[in-house]
Amino acid sequence: MHCPFCSHTDTKVIDSRLIAEGSQTRRRRECPACGERFTTFESAELLMPKVIKSRNNMREPFNEQKLREGLYRALEKRPVGEEEVETLIEDIKKDIRSSGEREVRSRLIGEVIMKRLRRVDEVAFIRFASVYRRFEDITEFSEEVDKLAKD
Ligand SMILES: [Zn+2]
Repeated sequence: MHCPFCSHTDTKVIDSRLIAEGSQTRRRRECPACGERFTTFESAELLMPKVIKSRNNMREPFNEQKLREGLYRALEKRPVGEEEVETLIEDIKKDIRSSGEREVRSRLIGEVIMKRLRRVDEVAFIRFASVYRRFEDITEFSEEVDKLAKD
């Protein structure tokens, strides 16, 4: 692929390995022209179900970038690395696909994210839940916090 720094037409792969339980390839590349290094992630594009928004029942495509941004926001200043986040995203997508449905409610996606995120980082889970549940049901969130305090 082309160098994202100087647009040189060829870059060299200097390291390649499987991550996210083998569902992704992470490659370190180097540009022979400017010497800059960068990382690419490669994964199979599998069809994700459409998302039914709870507010108005509108359908929209599953947005992986939105998910990634939300997770990074929740994981800010937490000891969770880039590769762990990618694994988390793959796991979340796998769970959503495993419903076998062509359309899923946004609520189900929120539940899947919270279940997976909780296993990775408790603080990030609370942050995510607080934002997510504000739009859903406030009582459920306080119950969740109560449960956490008792654990
Ligand atoms: Zn370059």
